[in-house]
Amino acid sequence: MITNEVWKSCQTELRHKLNPHNYDSWIAPISYESFEGDTVTLSVPSVFFVDWIEEHYKGQIIDLFGDVAGKSISLKLSVRHELDRGAEPSSPLPKASDAPSYMELLEKCSLNEKHTFRNFVVGKSNEFCHASCQAVAANPGRVYNPLFIYGGVGLGKTHLLQAIGAEALRKNPKANVLYMTSEKFVNSMINSLQQGSMANFRNKYRSLDVLMVDDIQFIAGKERSQEEFFHTFNTLYESKKQIVVTSDKIPKDMKNMEERLRSRFACGLISDIQPPELEIKIAILKQIAKRNGFDMDDDVASYLAEKIKSNIRELEGSLARVMAYSSLTNRPINMDLAQETIRGIYGEVVRMLDIKQIQKAVVEYYGLKIIDLKSRSRSKNIAGPRHVAEYLCREFTTASLPEIGRSFGGRDHTTVLHAVSKIKADLEVNTQLYNEINEIKKKLDL
Ligand code: ADP
Ligand code: MG
Repeated sequence: MITNEVWKSCQTELRHKLNPHNYDSWIAPISYESFEGDTVTLSVPSVFFVDWIEEHYKGQIIDLFGDVAGKSISLKLSVRHELDRGAEPSSPLPKASDAPSYMELLEKCSLNEKHTFRNFVVGKSNEFCHASCQAVAANPGRVYNPLFIYGGVGLGKTHLLQAIGAEALRKNPKANVLYMTSEKFVNSMINSLQQGSMANFRNKYRSLDVLMVDDIQFIAGKERSQEEFFHTFNTLYESKKQIVVTSDKIPKDMKNMEERLRSRFACGLISDIQPPELEIKIAILKQIAKRNGFDMDDDVASYLAEKIKSNIRELEGSLARVMAYSSLTNRPINMDLAQETIRGIYGEVVRMLDIKQIQKAVVEYYGLKIIDLKSRSRSKNIAGPRHVAEYLCREFTTASLPEIGRSFGGRDHTTVLHAVSKIKADLEVNTQLYNEINEIKKKLDL
């Protein structure tokens, strides 16, 4: 029996597992509704939550319920309509009702309906890869075979790979399309070996029109899987069926990958995705916000795009949190809300500044002039702030000690080092100093 109490204890468990920001954004707002048959219904504040939780937390929640009930439990998420939310986001799956059969097809082929060409923002960093994927989707098995997509984590490889499948199915709903991760390939091969059903395993692949294998690098070092994949590859290739794989490395850098496979991968087209430029990040943010029914100004989009440097997955994650806070607090997405959210997420992450920015913030805070920081004065109300500024430069710029020394009136690097150590030691015991430095850091958006 899954009761409200059980849900509360699951929440406690998740609180321990997840980072606090994720817990507060996504799990805390979920309420228990009912348990009927084998289905638990939980409710969430908006449609947008349903989508996000399904994608990121559903598995964990179901596992926890399963442990309690001792059998498998299914989970339904409903939206709490009684809450009057002026800006309820529109459904993120607008196409679901228009074309159910197409949606079913996508699901059957393990394709995520959001991963389409339409939803893919094109810019310099990915236009070549995007174009090659479109060409392949338009003419599977005819143009580039195999197509080898490579690029860093979170840059859109899986999205493009699945877009090929979705497009091929849209054009020809009868096409036999299969998307899988290389791990799944390995697991299903192992299962077939154990059950003595390798013939079925092989037949399944022979009849495909398009085979898409994601993160192929994971079969490196697994001999039997490479062998099997090699044969699958050859069969499909010879019958002019399309093969697309993704990887975080180019074939020649895939250590522990058999040479014959590497050369097969390299015989078609190798297409790469580069890290996103600012414009693409802004366009992606605006597109996702719009799709979820939120308005986002350019300044907010550029703020987020500049803050999140690493990859598009992280960009999406941060935007998701901004949208969640917006719907939870019923506030529009504006600069304040974005800054609060980002500070929550990246509070601990060090942001790099330049010396001048720090000097400016310090003199403003203490009511001094830049020239004071560079002076020889040892009076407490000047030397103190100078030490603080040197400390902040050491912590939040990439400048070396001698460089910092030069920027503070040509001081020796040991003098700077001494000042930095002094502030560090004082910070442990001096609350006032601690607060002052925090105020300055806030000014600097640290
Ligand atoms: P990878 O497989 O390279 O690690 P993904 O394809 O999973 O990366 O992309 C991470 C997330 O970013 C996905 O949700 C994807 O939809 C999104 N994404 C990546 N590139 C783009 C793009 N150009 N336009 C829109 N969304 C993108
Ligand atoms: Mg991927």
